Amino acid sequence: MSVQTFDPRTILRDELSELTAYAPSAGHFEVRLDANEAPPLLSATARRQLSEISAKALFERYPDAGQKELRKAIARSLGVEPTEVLAGVGSDEIITLLLTVATRTKKQARVPTILTTTPTFVMYRLSARVRGQRVVEVPLDSDWDLAVDSMLTAIEMSEPNVVFIASPNNPTGTMMSRDRLEAVIRAARNSLVVVDEAYVDYADRTQLDLLQSYENVAILRTLSKVGFAALRVGWLVAKSSLIAELDKARLPYNLPSVSQALASFVLTDLRAELDSTIDAVQRERARVEAALLKLPGTLVAPSQANFLWLSLAGSAEETYEALKKHSVLVRSFHGRGGRLERCLRVTIGTPEQNDRFLDALAASV
Ligand SMILES: *Cc1c(COP(=O)(O)O)cnc(C)c1O
Repeated sequence: MSVQTFDPRTILRDELSELTAYAPSAGHFEVRLDANEAPPLLSATARRQLSEISAKALFERYPDAGQKELRKAIARSLGVEPTEVLAGVGSDEIITLLLTVATRTKKQARVPTILTTTPTFVMYRLSARVRGQRVVEVPLDSDWDLAVDSMLTAIEMSEPNVVFIASPNNPTGTMMSRDRLEAVIRAARNSLVVVDEAYVDYADRTQLDLLQSYENVAILRTLSKVGFAALRVGWLVAKSSLIAELDKARLPYNLPSVSQALASFVLTDLRAELDSTIDAVQRERARVEAALLKLPGTLVAPSQANFLWLSLAGSAEETYEALKKHSVLVRSFHGRGGRLERCLRVTIGTPEQNDRFLDALAASV
């Protein structure tokens, strides 16, 4: 008997052939500073409280489709209304949700288009390409800030449905200047401007107040970078009429009960724990930055995030490989070429991890 053959590519969209699956670096490393996770600083008391909440979950029931408690907890923590909040399986899910529904073609733009910066978080591009959308990327300027004239031109030419701006930005750690950000938001009055604040807890200001002046702004946040990546909880804050539309496309049971309950508890009762993690990371960030600046030829961008963005005197590839030999994993951008050739991104870890990184680096450059 012969097998009936089938080539899945005959039914799949062409864009998939240009993409590769997102794969964090495999392998065992004693010091992993490659994924911008927070160091493990949670107290024993908090861990016990979290496990007690998990144990009370109604495992046989579907989660709350309306995310009621979680939305209330998020709204309370930000001083907004629950109807202005939507939670997702990480902010990643919210990015995909936005791109699933924001698919208008415009006068000149015959393909639904998004606009973002480069370098920036890769999920904007990936999620858009998976949906067959066009991605316009405007390079950041030499200080890794918005190149505002190029952004304004790109907005006019490409008519994006959504503009994604990470601020603080990943991988550069820089926050976009307020006046430039507002200039972009004003110019993009026919687009939704998503200000991705994944790292804002480590910054010296937030951009949440933009919501009061601009109805075309949405703010994206997550628990992932402040110690709770395992929960996969992120949220969007926006005009309630937009949230109501997004809710139609959201899978009703997107967030597991345990994640909803734990995230609500974190936001309501663990604020002091979060703050002490944030303090510890900020202090270490200053210490690591000062040590790095002593290395000849090394530039460090001013970071408002839980990682540092370095430009080395020589190739990032050699240093990256040398660090791996010391069992220290960071993220290298040498493969991207151009001005990223010499760039490394290193997450701030515990003091011991940071020392391991600094020692290995001193031995490598
Ligand atoms: C890590 C990161 C996210 C992803 O967050 P999740 O909530 O874990 O999906 C979003 N935006 C930026 C800029 C990030 O670096």
